[in-house]
Order: sequence, then C-alpha cells, then structure tokens
Amino acid sequence: MCVFCKIANHEIPSKAVYEDDQILAFLDISPVTKGHTLIIPKQHFDNFSDCDSELVKHIHEVSKDLVKHYQSILNPKGFNLLSNMNTAAGQSVFHVHFHLIPRYDENDGLVLLFNHDDSVQYTKEEINQLILK
Ligand code: 5GP
Ligand code: ZN
Repeated sequence: MCVFCKIANHEIPSKAVYEDDQILAFLDISPVTKGHTLIIPKQHFDNFSDCDSELVKHIHEVSKDLVKHYQSILNPKGFNLLSNMNTAAGQSVFHVHFHLIPRYDENDGLVLLFNHDDSVQYTKEEINQLILK
C-alpha cells in the first residue's frame, strides 16, 4: 500500500483540513508556503490520467472551497493548483494528488519557471493532430 493510501486509511497520521468518504485534503509534510495542501482521492490511482473523472470533479470542487477558505484565513496574494504527472514532471508519490499552494510573493517557496522555447514550432498538420475531437 502506498504512503497516501496509508494516510487516507489513517494508518499514517496527517494534518487533515478536509475529509469526506471519497477524498482527503491534508497539509504537506514539507510545505513550500504556509497552507501548502495536498488533495487526494481515497481510492488509489497512480496519477491524474488514471483518476476517475467524477473524483477529479469532486477534488476540484473541494479545492475551490479551500481556496476561498484559505483566502479568508491566510490572506495570500494568489494560489497555484497543480498535479505532477510522472517522474519527468516531478511526481514523487505515485498516488494522484493536487498541490494547492497559497502564494505570498515572487520570493516565496515555490519557483515555477515557464521558459519560452523558441525551437517549438508547429506545422498545420501537427496542430490538427492536437485538436481534441
Ligand atoms: P509530488 O512530488 O509527488 O508532486 O509531491 C509529493 C508531495 O507529498 C511532496 O510535496 C511531499 O512533501 C509530500 N509528502 C510525501 N510524503 C508525505 C507524508 O507522509 N505526509 C505528508 N503530509 N506529505 C507527504
Ligand atoms: Zn495509494
């Protein structure tokens, strides 16, 4: 059983901030900012692409409620909501989770760089292939 399944089953303690029969939200053990929270389904899926769509919807509804709640308590200037998928994207725990990260300023604990890559070009055919039908 993976570490987040154990947390979901209360075999490993966590600082829970929301729980229902399907999902659990708890404070990250190694927070990058104050309020850094992980939101997980109790059922195990390796990552977002495997996760049941209704669960994804529910996770996002609760994430939105947490954003509003944290805004009133922590008064951050913004939030990031993100899920790392696979090692190449920085995933280290292979049980789907969303990071909800309150942001205070550009020098807080999260460094997120979107470096523009000039070498990325698309042909018309490639764009057509990318359209979700
Ligand atoms: P990932 O790198 O997979 O996107 O994120 C995994 C996150 O889980 C990390 O931010 C890490 O600090 C957190 N984490 C790992 N193990 C535990 C744990 O046992 N308890 C809690 N609360 N967080 C954990
Ligand atoms: Zn698991």
